[in-house]
Amino acid sequence: MTERTSKNSMLHIDGAQGEGGGQILRSSLALSMATGTPFRMTGIRAGRAKPGLMRQHLTCVQAAADISSAHVSGAVVGSTEISFEPGPVRSGDYHFQIGTAGGTTLVLQAVLPALLVADGGSTITVEGGTHNRAAPPFEFLERALVPILNRAGAGLAVRLERHGFYPAGGGRVVTTIDPARAPTAIALAERGERQGARATAIVSRLSPSIAHRELKVLRDRLGLQPDELEAVLVERPIGPGNAAFVELRYEHVTEVFSAVGEVGKSAETVAREVADEARDYIAAQVAAGPYLADQLMVPLALLAGGRYATGPLTDHSATNMAVIEAFGGRVAVQDGTLVVEQLLRRARQA
Ligand code: AMP
Repeated sequence: MTERTSKNSMLHIDGAQGEGGGQILRSSLALSMATGTPFRMTGIRAGRAKPGLMRQHLTCVQAAADISSAHVSGAVVGSTEISFEPGPVRSGDYHFQIGTAGGTTLVLQAVLPALLVADGGSTITVEGGTHNRAAPPFEFLERALVPILNRAGAGLAVRLERHGFYPAGGGRVVTTIDPARAPTAIALAERGERQGARATAIVSRLSPSIAHRELKVLRDRLGLQPDELEAVLVERPIGPGNAAFVELRYEHVTEVFSAVGEVGKSAETVAREVADEARDYIAAQVAAGPYLADQLMVPLALLAGGRYATGPLTDHSATNMAVIEAFGGRVAVQDGTLVVEQLLRRARQA
């Protein structure tokens, strides 16, 4: 049984702070579920052109509430304020449908961390977009994030069952989670030797020539060999879509940089965006790129903490640090290394 907490004693998180986007909400949901701390958030997505909860964010709130039997208020599309009082985290099989092309990987950002430290295994199916603008593509999760979380003791496997692109959506990602019984701290001081690279261009109900034009740009800009290029033509596509990404494999870390095709944006522009990000990362010499840096923080805080060398702090990372601190954790920057302290060993039990 959960004891209801009065609104005044709830942790207040200002959703407008720092980055002012959906990530503050997702990180707060994750930390609230795992620590059993109720919170109230105001100014949700105040920094975005269309503030308030969109379908993807609403699905995050509903999914988190489902998994932790939470009492929630304000959970409607457009809402700029919610309160969330979690009960015990229940592992199990869950299916969440965003209902739009909203990012499936972002819904996972909200619910995975608490399930990594739950007392049983779970399977989470999320339907929506799998390759979205300003969100991690499925392959980032699969190849960059998940291997590090597994090194920290989690038993995570992700499967892309169907691609989903804006606007049709309809993608499906299935995640199985074996919680970390004995989490270990991550130490990622350097990336190590380069072991390989691969560029992939995906097209869904669009001309394969788009993928070939993207791969040509990626080959030229990143000096890739023909056997390091792959065009994926989506079978049984739900709607049109295109994404390109580059996977850079090093001894201690794999990074994934990506971009999504949009109407009015040339294939060459999409590929150049990917190549620029990959080149920046290659030149920076750090272990964790800008996206990995903010996305490792919450799960590592809940597992056994850790440290990783990264570039200048992004707004997303700075905001995540502030949210983790609000929930009683601590993340410090020491000489270009993010040091994440362990916040708890196991999710709150009933
Ligand atoms: P927000 O902008 O607050 O909705 O948060 C977006 C989240 O998506 C952050 O965790 C970013 O690190 C992540 N993200 C955005 N673009 C990418 C990308 N190209 N690859 C991986 N992660 C991304």
